[in-house]
Amino acid sequence: MSQLFEPSRALSKEARIKNMCEYKELCIQADEDFEGYWDKLAREKIEWFKPYDRVLNEDNAPFYKWFEGGKLNVTHQCLGRHLKTRKNKAAIIWEGEDGKRRIITYLQLFYRVNRLANLMRNKFGIKKGDRVVLYMPMIPEAAFAMLACAKIGAIHSVVFGGFSAEALRDRIQDAEAKLVITADGAFRRGKPYMLKPVVDEALSVGCESCEKVLIVQRNFEDIEYVPGRDYVYNEIIMNESQYCDPEWMDSEDPLFLLYTSGSTGKPKGVQHGSAGYILWAQYTMEHVFDVKENDTFWCTADVGWITGHTYIVYGPLAMGATTIMYEGVPTFPDVGRWWSMIEEHRVNQFYTAPTAIRLLHKEGADAPSKYDLSSLKVLGTVGEPINPDAWMWYYEQIGRGNCPIVDTWWQTETGGHMITPLPGATPIKPGSATFPLPGIKAEIIDEHGNPTPKGEKGFLCITKPWPSMIRNIWGDSDRFVKSYFGDCKKDGKPVYFSGDGAMYDDDGYIVITGRTDDVINVSGHRIGTAEIEAVLAHHENVAEVAVVGRPDPIKGEGIFAYIVIKGEDSLSEEVYMIQELNKLIVKEIGNIAKLDAIRFVPGLPKTRSGKIMRRILRSIAKKEPITQDISTLEDPSIVEKIQNLIEF
Ligand code: ATP
Ligand code: MG
Repeated sequence: MSQLFEPSRALSKEARIKNMCEYKELCIQADEDFEGYWDKLAREKIEWFKPYDRVLNEDNAPFYKWFEGGKLNVTHQCLGRHLKTRKNKAAIIWEGEDGKRRIITYLQLFYRVNRLANLMRNKFGIKKGDRVVLYMPMIPEAAFAMLACAKIGAIHSVVFGGFSAEALRDRIQDAEAKLVITADGAFRRGKPYMLKPVVDEALSVGCESCEKVLIVQRNFEDIEYVPGRDYVYNEIIMNESQYCDPEWMDSEDPLFLLYTSGSTGKPKGVQHGSAGYILWAQYTMEHVFDVKENDTFWCTADVGWITGHTYIVYGPLAMGATTIMYEGVPTFPDVGRWWSMIEEHRVNQFYTAPTAIRLLHKEGADAPSKYDLSSLKVLGTVGEPINPDAWMWYYEQIGRGNCPIVDTWWQTETGGHMITPLPGATPIKPGSATFPLPGIKAEIIDEHGNPTPKGEKGFLCITKPWPSMIRNIWGDSDRFVKSYFGDCKKDGKPVYFSGDGAMYDDDGYIVITGRTDDVINVSGHRIGTAEIEAVLAHHENVAEVAVVGRPDPIKGEGIFAYIVIKGEDSLSEEVYMIQELNKLIVKEIGNIAKLDAIRFVPGLPKTRSGKIMRRILRSIAKKEPITQDISTLEDPSIVEKIQNLIEF
């Protein structure tokens, strides 16, 4: 049994769920009366314009419907209803990379959203159901725009501000967006960069649906304006009234589309609904981060990802919390930036990705000790499995041994957390997302639909619907059914398959082993790349690692590792490292997982959300030409750098 870390008594005493008995009691309630469980939550949490008639409609599964007949507006849940008690509370605290700050209260946010909603409705003719693409930097206007769409029932599709013109164009076309909201530019790594020219390029071919472009001036760059198409937000927004009637939305009306990061192929326009999504955003904020009235919550994601949607904008605002939004990179002006912000804003809950933790660990292991991080109560991670070394550093150096880490497993498609510790209740351990939330039937099953025994890998499925689940893939219902309900069955019925593999460890804790397509078959043995990577990442000189399979005439597949090492990468060290790494592998996994090839590389190809694009590394290892779209990479030039290094 690996080491367990119990939540502190002080934290448990105050937490919403205080111990595992309470957690289990909720799970039992949900098991015994599934609809009753969700019914109670939906009544308690949402301020409905009109109550719903039916909790769950499964008639047309997997097109599930939740809270049918109910009417609401998500912005009333996030803003309107808070004005009675929180109008002067900070809703958003924004910090620019250059140190500029803006604090926006609930009342101010309410007015700003209304003005923008009126502008879209009256000036641009945007109606309920129209799609609006947001191509925005991390500035408060990104949140205003999302909420303004929600106010008038338009469906937003946020496209991460680092994507190329081509990637942006694909998404505008797929959604047939009528309006694009963008900014002139923003700041990153201390330098201004431009967004508007990318929009111009995207719109230059084949985007007939898009009639207007609204531009927020962020850094007042010199940009070109297309007369009749382009409007400057700063110049016209104050002409609009600060009052706006919310559209009465059905529970199931789409709230937004979000294209997944694309680490496994053509991006899918994941479609989310209104009531179920906002319910779960709020519930998980309250229970997984245990945010209290006076707390300051900081999620470092970009609003272009689902994590930013649910845990920068919708979740925190739905519960009436204060959310921090930061424009820039974690290493500007130095590796202490985030820690100094935690000290300065007295952040209570901090939520980030393993890739960022690894980066800050590698580049500035001692930096956190210079700051007062005592305000922190709960730490979180999301996006990929976190290796135990990074986990321990996060736990000890950032949390000072006092803050539980909630390793939250979920996806764009799930809308909010699915498997995660509860900070006041769950004894945690490095590398495990622990247990499903009450009401979430996450199960690990084999190809026959039976639960896998402890220690054996299986398919991570969610065997009952849940309110914040994906409703469709925009414009492609067949792909929706095939992608998520085609592979796994339980009791003969198709169930949601996440695409991830997982297993129960000896203690019954859930360990995510990575995507099931990231499995290497060595001489008939199936080995998860994540497992090998975890071992390699353990070596003190390894900063980052990615492992892929490469066809091997004898073994079927051989194991090919790309490694970024810390410090100097001299050749003598490399030879030494190869031996060292293989020793580690043999010890931890066995001879079967010995590496066939290692390449020391300057960096790894990562998506803008920090995920390694293994399909590119697979192609490079096979010496295939790269046919994939690499425009969504953080640094597309890395591909050529790696290719140049690979000689066989
Ligand atoms: P695409 O579906 O286009 O390939 P993506 O899966 O990277 O993109 P997201 O929805 O942002 O897009 O990521 C969800 C995935 O991230 C999960 O399916 C899982 O593989 C991984 N993941 C998220 N959280 C965790 C976690 N706590 N532990 C392990 N893996 C995680
Ligand atoms: Mg995915």
